[in-house]
Amino acid sequence: MQRSGSDVSVLVVGGGLAGCTAALELEAAGADVVVLDAGPSLMQGASRFNEGKVHLGYVYANDDSERTLRLMLAGAMEFAAILDRHLPVPLRGLPVSPPFDYAVHPATMVPPSDLARRYRRIETEMERLGVHGAHDDYLGLERVRQLRRCATDEQLPPALGADACIAAFATEERAVEPFAVADGVIAAVERSRIDVRCSVVVDAVERINGRYWAVTALGRIGPFDSVINASWASRDRLDRTVGIVSTDPWSYRFKYFLRVRKDGLGDIIPTVTWALGPFGDVLTYGADTAYLSWYPAGRVSFATSEAPPPTVSPRPDRDTAAAVTADILAGLAQLVPAIASIDPVHDDVEIWGGVIVGVGATDIDDPDSGLHRRDNIGIVSVGDYHSISTGKWTTAPMLGRRAAEVVLYGVAP
Ligand SMILES: Cc1cc2nc3c(=O)[nH]c(=O)nc-3n(C[C@H](O)[C@H](O)[C@H](O)COP(=O)(O)OP(=O)(O)OC[C@H]3O[C@@H](n4cnc5c(N)ncnc54)[C@H](O)[C@@H]3O)c2cc1C
Repeated sequence: MQRSGSDVSVLVVGGGLAGCTAALELEAAGADVVVLDAGPSLMQGASRFNEGKVHLGYVYANDDSERTLRLMLAGAMEFAAILDRHLPVPLRGLPVSPPFDYAVHPATMVPPSDLARRYRRIETEMERLGVHGAHDDYLGLERVRQLRRCATDEQLPPALGADACIAAFATEERAVEPFAVADGVIAAVERSRIDVRCSVVVDAVERINGRYWAVTALGRIGPFDSVINASWASRDRLDRTVGIVSTDPWSYRFKYFLRVRKDGLGDIIPTVTWALGPFGDVLTYGADTAYLSWYPAGRVSFATSEAPPPTVSPRPDRDTAAAVTADILAGLAQLVPAIASIDPVHDDVEIWGGVIVGVGATDIDDPDSGLHRRDNIGIVSVGDYHSISTGKWTTAPMLGRRAAEVVLYGVAP
């Protein structure tokens, strides 16, 4: 059923990148939109506290089906086009990382020759999509290089330590500074007609006489014609209140990372992801801001659907902060010697974290874990209730826009 935007009232639960994109698209079509968020303001969850990598699929090389890489490429190619319709500053005007090298860790679970074959499929898929040469699709950036394997010492990224990798691949992939994106989204919502109510936890959604209500500790809020559930870590729990019962083994990993600000970091910190396993990433956005992540130290909890995680603050307490910061720096200094020059006490080092939701009963050190794929993402609907399984920041704008289309047109065109 096609609806005129002005005829429809929509509740969006969750003001992260998926929920805000859906809300902005609906508001632009004339809908009356209310966003309820448990946080103190919008964009204070995983959509702010993340790495900002706009994935092309390299991290999911263990998914032989290619479904994850197709979804990541689709999300990546729409990322800037969707956000640029709403954000006050176009994405290309925000700090963007240099292109990523994928360094193959000595303990990789997939050997470099297999990675080379799998990575080449990404390149082939990009060419099939017509993404080659100068183009405007991927973040609006000109393509600067193509996949290249660096196997000799001279070609390996020079900032890496002697035992940091056994091969490396130069890729096109980049990250956009996620705090700047989050601030841009907030500014876009603020200048719209969207009714935002924060510090409101939605415990359930009820359908009464064909219309929907949010159930909160302060009473019911509604009624609405449609609901979009974009609540990420609460999604499965809220879906159950309207009868959508997933049999997938959802897991919730809480991961901390460091943000370091110091003059000249861009000259000494490379932009690298270690493949493939429970390793980490280092990168810079601009000359003086770095993102540092070391999975063995930063991934502090792993919860499953049976025992979902309690709400965790994005900032740890003082003792946890000191211990995890020291462990992340020590783990990464083995791979990038320049990281030893970062002083956690005197330099500007912040620790932040967020929940990663995925389908997988075991962690990523298990090659068979479902967490090596993100093909179980998309929109699940019952009646006029639509639930977004976001998957990644990369796919959040694409799925937020699709959810808005489902509300307006019945299906995504
Ligand atoms: C450390 C880290 C690094 C990451 N790096 C990357 C990366 O580089 N690239 C990438 O593509 N992805 C990355 N991700 C994943 C990415 O951040 C998420 O997939 C994405 O941000 C999810 O967006 P969202 O809008 O669905 O969720 P969120 O941004 O979490 O938004 C959900 C919102 O719902 C609200 N909420 C929750 N429960 C309720 C409730 N009951 N009632 C009301 N409101 C509620 C929350 O307050 C929150 O604001 C990373 C994640 C983490 C944690």
